[in-house]
Amino acid sequence: MTATSSAATSGAAVQGEAAAVEFRGVSRVFGKTRALDGLDLALRPGELLALLGPSGCGKTTALRLLAGFDTPSSGEILIDGRDVTDTPASKRDTGMVFQAYSLFPTMTAADNVAFGLRMRRVALSRRKARAAELLELVGLGDRAGSYPHELSGGQQQRVALARALAVSPSVLLLDEPLSALDARVRVQLRDEIRRLQLAEGITTLFVTHDQSEALAVADRVAVLNAGRMEQVGTPLEVYGSPSTTFVSEFVGVVNRLPAVASSGRSVEVLGSRAQLDGDTLDGPLTVAVRPEALTVGDSGGVAGTVLTSTFLGPVTRLVVTTELGELTVDAVSRDTLPVPGSTTHVQLDTTTVRPAPA
Ligand code: ATP
Repeated sequence: MTATSSAATSGAAVQGEAAAVEFRGVSRVFGKTRALDGLDLALRPGELLALLGPSGCGKTTALRLLAGFDTPSSGEILIDGRDVTDTPASKRDTGMVFQAYSLFPTMTAADNVAFGLRMRRVALSRRKARAAELLELVGLGDRAGSYPHELSGGQQQRVALARALAVSPSVLLLDEPLSALDARVRVQLRDEIRRLQLAEGITTLFVTHDQSEALAVADRVAVLNAGRMEQVGTPLEVYGSPSTTFVSEFVGVVNRLPAVASSGRSVEVLGSRAQLDGDTLDGPLTVAVRPEALTVGDSGGVAGTVLTSTFLGPVTRLVVTTELGELTVDAVSRDTLPVPGSTTHVQLDTTTVRPAPA
């Protein structure tokens, strides 16, 4: 295994390259709750890492520990190679954007953005210039004099982002920054955050429970479950090669199908032959197949009855009841797709399949 691929799965630092942020065996216990349980995670300089997991898995705890709002029960936290475990938040050089409503309501957008600089006793003229520059960067150059209540939710989050960036922090921390916004604005701002993050080259930890958001925005995704790291990898790695059942189900829908392997890598699934992407096996096994790797037709595969049909634009998601259980199929949208209540056949629409993680 190369240094890079082992780092991708273990979360450890890349050899020869100093990590910008490192959690080393970090645990945080609240009474009987182990919010974080031995977290090892390293962020490379300039990367955006999404910390993904269900509610209560410890994401916010990890972020708060990194910001210095809380102290680990055990373990160490490093920023740019420096142990900051006992360093107060104000001396950690991080910028943070919260879920929403975190702007100072009695300050204008410009004053909000300049706030951190004022705390650092930066001269008024420089504060003003920097605030104007940052507001311009987030597309609000003309709203410097507006108060938070005069701005939309998306605009307020842009100001919050400008405020976090104003002090040129070495790490940007985003705590579900899009969760209070409506779907369209969410996607727009998500893409803007990514553009800005790339332009500024700032190391960023992005906390979210939304798998599509994490996969869309991140260089790497770290999947957390009950305070423990399940997998760290590129979006393609965690989506295409999930290392645990939890990851495979959390980062998208997965169908578990019976298969029979013969002569090494050839495998039969739903009556079709495919190549097995994984260890050579013989005999029965279970494979994990994403909805887009299935389709429907008039014959072959496994017969079933369409339960629901959801138009998603380029694809239509069909849930089909079969003797193998309910299967989820993302079929290319077309007007000949079977409607709920009708009979259809679910077929394999891929040439390679992976064994389901244990
Ligand atoms: P969400 O997406 O719902 O915000 P999360 O993944 O951010 O969840 P955390 O807020 O980190 O989860 O919480 C992890 C666990 O630690 C939860 O069981 C939570 O109840 C517990 N916890 C967090 N903070 C405290 C605290 N101050 N006191 C007691 N328990 C806490």
